[in-house]
Amino acid sequence: MFERAKCDLCGDCLVACKYNNYDRQTAIAGMTALIEGRSTVVVKQCVTCASCNEVCEKGANPFDLICETQERTNALELPDEVISMFDYMCKGRNEIREGAPGRPAISSCVIRAALPRPLEGSLFDDLTHVRGQDYFCHIGWVHLGKASPMDKGIHSLINNLAALGKKEIVFAHDDCYATATTKAKQYGVKVPFRPIHILEYLRDEMKKRKDEIKKLGLKIAYQRPCASRYTPEKEPFVDELLDLIGVKRVARKYDRKNALCCGLPLMFRDMNKGMEIQKKNLDDAKGSGAEAMTFLCPVCIRGLGSGCAERGLDIYMVSDLCRLALGERIPAYSA
Ligand code: SF4
Ligand code: SF4
Repeated sequence: MFERAKCDLCGDCLVACKYNNYDRQTAIAGMTALIEGRSTVVVKQCVTCASCNEVCEKGANPFDLICETQERTNALELPDEVISMFDYMCKGRNEIREGAPGRPAISSCVIRAALPRPLEGSLFDDLTHVRGQDYFCHIGWVHLGKASPMDKGIHSLINNLAALGKKEIVFAHDDCYATATTKAKQYGVKVPFRPIHILEYLRDEMKKRKDEIKKLGLKIAYQRPCASRYTPEKEPFVDELLDLIGVKRVARKYDRKNALCCGLPLMFRDMNKGMEIQKKNLDDAKGSGAEAMTFLCPVCIRGLGSGCAERGLDIYMVSDLCRLALGERIPAYSA
């Protein structure tokens, strides 16, 4: 949610945009136009990565204003078939599988089908598993230039999760965690359980089982998802966890605050630009000495999976690496 009172029109957000070269003057003019309710070149050119929300040190959330304007002006002009396809992807049978008493629930919304390997094994088997369309956060619609679905869906998402009666809910999907934390606060939605990010859950579980860990000695490139822009405070969990399991996150240009979008959202409207972003990202990963690419969002694998395979980069979710470090066998994956 854009916070006008916090914006001093410094232009930093748009100057830092990695996908478009805005100078300070253009950036300030762009933000001024958006605030005054006018569209501007930024609205069409924005690849919806949300990184300007993280860049803005005043907490004004400029991307939220860009996205609202994209929706109001239908700036992305996506064909109906693309909207219908995404709507279909947001659907999925609801399912609850009860776990051990006293253990948290884990929500995998509608991403389970996209996961390269299921959330199974000793880290997950005693949790209550919940998934399906009633647990989808709708934040992904921003990649189609639509802000309102999440606005409409946030209350039902939190209510549906609260109905599980759990004190703690682990979110397997970065987007859902962002919704239950940052977005819920912005929208004034009360969350009657503690949202736990899967990285925090894995870090804590692996710490408890430190003596069982066999260090993997693997060099990986981390694909930081766009949704992490809403909750950058959890970033230290990634390093702590990888360190625990003996995995080196290679230093590379497109990581951390400088991470690139997986390019998938852009494929719907500018295939060449999407492919160009993917190539930059993957060449950077490979050139930095990574043996594998590690993901937090399975949808990013859809965008980058075949490029990883072409470059001989193995593919793992962070949870897969933890299972390997505990000596568990995981199924092979091919993009
Ligand atoms: S949104 Fe933030 S970074 Fe952008 S112009 Fe306003 S204060 Fe500056
Ligand atoms: S959301 Fe990303 S692409 Fe869009 S203006 Fe902000 S930084 Fe640029």
